[in-house]
Amino acid sequence: MELNKEGFYEPTLFSEEACTQCGLCLSVCAYNNDNLLDSNEEEAKSYAAWSNNIRVRRKCSSGGIGFELGMHLIKQGYKACGVRYYPELNRAEHFVASTIEEFIPSIGSKYIQSFTLKGFSQLNLYDKFFVTGTPCQIDSLRRYICKLKIEENFVLMDFFCHGVPSIYMWKKYTEMVEKQTGKITYASWRNKLTGWHNSYIIGIDGKNGDRRAFIVSKAAAEFRTW
Ligand SMILES: Cc1cc2nc3c(=O)[nH]c(=O)nc-3n(C[C@H](O)[C@H](O)[C@H](O)COP(=O)(O)OP(=O)(O)OC[C@H]3O[C@@H](n4cnc5c(N)ncnc54)[C@H](O)[C@@H]3O)c2cc1C
Repeated sequence: MELNKEGFYEPTLFSEEACTQCGLCLSVCAYNNDNLLDSNEEEAKSYAAWSNNIRVRRKCSSGGIGFELGMHLIKQGYKACGVRYYPELNRAEHFVASTIEEFIPSIGSKYIQSFTLKGFSQLNLYDKFFVTGTPCQIDSLRRYICKLKIEENFVLMDFFCHGVPSIYMWKKYTEMVEKQTGKITYASWRNKLTGWHNSYIIGIDGKNGDRRAFIVSKAAAEFRTW
């Protein structure tokens, strides 16, 4: 997976010999499939719910159900694959958690494209997995596990998604912020320190401990350590 010139990760082939021409990648990619995978007409049921844990509600984006489902399934022996913000590379990335504590960094939407390679590489034929991601990531993964006939081992969760912005926009923004905060150590989107109704607050912790307003770092620090 490489960044293209517009700032989006995309699969890249470096050497033609490395490709066996099996066509699997093209056949499972959501962008190459117009048909819905589920063709049965069973009526979908809808529920509205939120986490009863106030700390999860404050840290999540809209109710924390992703984390609650993950927690429930981890207790049943599943591994959970979600997205965390990874400050060393200043990006979001999928990772696999085996414990509830390890899954905590998945809470909350990171409004940038996640790098899937590390996390998805750890999915295997033998364990049970809960996997969360954008609709295109989950649709492609679902087509893949169906081909391998291992969908019984997976619980998949996607969410409403308008798409992701270019990572170059995020990098430009963080370059500006880091002049004040020092190297970013933690970021949270739609931070709720000022309540639920200001969607544009980003919580940032920086190496120099500086605290900014657009940039609500006190809350971020508090959440990170709970
Ligand atoms: C890129 C993006 C676009 C979105 N666009 C819309 C929209 O147009 N309309 C709308 O109503 N809501 C949108 N959302 C919000 C989304 O619907 C909420 O994330 C969802 O409601 C989460 O609810 P929650 O409180 O249960 O979260 P949580 O319990 O915190 O679960 C969130 C889950 O999302 C996963 N996740 C976080 N960031 C990413 C990412 N970058 N890529 C893949 N998976 C990720 C985490 O692993 C976690 O499991 C978007 C979210 C993202 C990440």
